[in-house]
Order: sequence, then C-alpha cells, then structure tokens
Amino acid sequence: MNVPLHNKITIDTYMTPLDHPEFAGHEQIVFATDNETGLKAIIAVHNTNRGPGLGGCRMWNYASANEALTDVLRLSKGMTYKNALADLALGGGKSVIIANPRTDKTPELLKAFGRHINRLAGSYITAEDVGISSDDMEIIGSVTDFARGTEATGFGDPSPYTALGTFVGIKAAAKHKFGSDDLNGLTVSLKGLGHVGYDVARQLHEAGATLIVSDIYDPAVTRAVEELGATSVSPDEAHLVKADIFAPCALGGGLNADTIPHLKVAIVAGAANNQLETPEDGAALMERGILYAPDYAINAGGVISVALGEPGISDSVVRQKTIAIGDTLTQIFERAATEKRPTNLIADELAEERFQHQHYSA
Ligand code: NAD
Repeated sequence: MNVPLHNKITIDTYMTPLDHPEFAGHEQIVFATDNETGLKAIIAVHNTNRGPGLGGCRMWNYASANEALTDVLRLSKGMTYKNALADLALGGGKSVIIANPRTDKTPELLKAFGRHINRLAGSYITAEDVGISSDDMEIIGSVTDFARGTEATGFGDPSPYTALGTFVGIKAAAKHKFGSDDLNGLTVSLKGLGHVGYDVARQLHEAGATLIVSDIYDPAVTRAVEELGATSVSPDEAHLVKADIFAPCALGGGLNADTIPHLKVAIVAGAANNQLETPEDGAALMERGILYAPDYAINAGGVISVALGEPGISDSVVRQKTIAIGDTLTQIFERAATEKRPTNLIADELAEERFQHQHYSA
C-alpha cells in the first residue's frame, strides 16, 4: 500500500539519494541537522580509496534540499577526480550547509556542523568554500580535528599556489603545442584579474608574454595596464581576440557551442573552474585544433596547498607538488594526441585509473 508522505509524494514514488541521478556510487551521504541551531547540512563522501575525502564546505541559500543534494554530490565526485589527478593521498568529499551565509551564520551552527564532521571519524576532511571563510573554519576547527585551512593546520590563502600551478600548466601547454615553453613574445588573453588571475598575469608578464586583459572590476584592469603593460578589452571580447593563449581565470564556465567557434587561439589554459559547459565542448575544442588544459588539472595548486600545507611542512614541498601539475598535463596532452581524443576525457580517465585501482590505508 502507498503511504502518503504529503499530498503528492508516496513512499513508492519518493526518490532517495541512492536513486539520485548524480549518486555516482558515493560511499557516504550524511544528512546532518541540529534542532537547537537550525543546522541543515549534507556531507557527501564520494570515494576514499586514496585516503580521506577532502573538499570544502559551501554555505549557500539553496532553494531546496534537493538542489543542495545535487550540488554536494557533483562537487564531491569532482574532488575525487581533482585529488587523484593531483596525486594526493586523498579521496573526494564535500559538504553543503543550507543557509544564507550573510544572515544565518552563527558560531553555534558552525560548531554543530563541526561535531557532525567529528562523527565521521576522519572519512571526510573539510575546508573553505563559497560562503565559508577562514574565520568560520577556525570555529569549525575548534570542535573537530578534521578541518583544514585553519591557523593551526594551514598555509592560508591557497590562491598563490593555484596561480603557480596555472602558470606552470600554461608553460606545459605551450611546450606541447609550440615545441617550447618559452612564453617570451607570446600573446595571452586573460579573463579575470582576481586573487588567482592577477598573479597568473604577473608571472606571464615576467616571462615576457604580451597581455590582453579583461575584468568586470575596472580597478583590476587599470592596475594590470599600469603595472604589467597590458592592453584591455571588455570581458565579452576576451575570447574573441587573436592571441596564442586564452586563459579563463574568472568565475564560471564560458566554453560552449556559442563561444568555441569564435576562439582565435591555439591553447585554452586558465584557472577558472568548470570551463566547459558540457563534456562535448572538449571535443569541439579538439576538432578546432585548440589544446585545452583540463580545469581541475591545471587549477589544483590550491587544493595541494590545503592538503599538504601543514605545520612542519616546508613551502618548497608544496611548491614542488604544485609544479608537478605541468608533468600531469604533459601526460594528458601526449595521451590525448596519441589516442586522438579530447584532453578532458583523458584527464577523467587518468584520475579514474588513480582512484579506482589504488588503495591507500587512511
Ligand atoms: P576572485 O573572486 O578573487 O576573482 C575573480 C575575478 O573575476 C574578479 O576580479 C571578478 O571581478 C572577475 N570576474 C567575474 N566575472 C567576470 C566576467 N564575467 N568577466 C571578467 N571578469 C569577471 O576569484 P579567484 O580566487 O581568483 O578564482 C578565480 C577562478 O579560479 C574561479 O573560477 C575559481 O573557482 C577558480 N579557482 C580558484 C582557486 C583559488 O585558490 N582561489 C582554486 C581553484 C580554482
């Protein structure tokens, strides 16, 4: 007999997380609540074959718990791929707190969340993400040892490492495409001059590249023009200009069926997350002869610094691991060329080889 849950849903029709389209074989999905503080959170651990699932905690005013579940499952799986490809002894996990970070955040709520992480006994390690600051992480870290990026555990802002890895990745792409990693005289169109983008621009400038920059925040553009001798274009034109390399370093995607046909570059390599609107856009870039550096491979410097940047670890260890992003990308480019397949699919396969068949003791 169907037991009504409310007027439309019955137990027979109710979809559990196990049936969710993004379930993807998650090891653990924990719904964490606390009546006293109003905490509503979901912690998702996708895969721990390589080690504990590390990934940030996002606080967002989701329209529904289902929207939050979809987000956390996608993000958590993404962390398994990113951490495996970065060759970290870590699996993938992520958490979301369903709340408005501006109005709902209280120390008590964050501590209640931290206590839930503690109950997972180390299968999940949290860190900052959208809506959660380093101060918030200090509060969470006051009740659990499984929080990274705190004063006691971290190296602070991961952006310089993300920028270093992106710069190294651009050089690896240039070496593969042009036969030399000398950027002197090459032109790079760089979109997004924030924490990561500006630092990438600075390193490109120091390497002798000519810069065409864009950002919706005018002071950042002015600074790049004055300090780095860059030429500016509007953000809408960044992917239209003729250059050797397009480096997306702003927020969100941008590579899709509308934009890819207009690119006038040989390489796309930048720090932004989720650059391809769909996986098929990777094939579209390949068909146009454009070398694409998969985003989660080239922008892994930040997670490397969060994962390895513990007290007692020297900065050079973290930098060396970040610089190795160049070797990983070279491996991806060479395999993609040999197999005549898109780099984004090769990156996924390489990550899968690393987390599906390797088991580390946590
Ligand atoms: P940020 O917020 O400091 O900088 C983003 C910049 O992009 C800002 O200057 C903003 O004005 C600009 N911007 C936003 N929309 C734009 C648009 N439509 N056109 C042009 N410029 C636009 O962020 P960040 O930390 O530098 O991160 C940049 C990208 O790198 C993001 O996609 C982020 O997810 C990714 N990433 C960052 C890190 C890290 O360590 N910070 C790690 C991995 C990935």
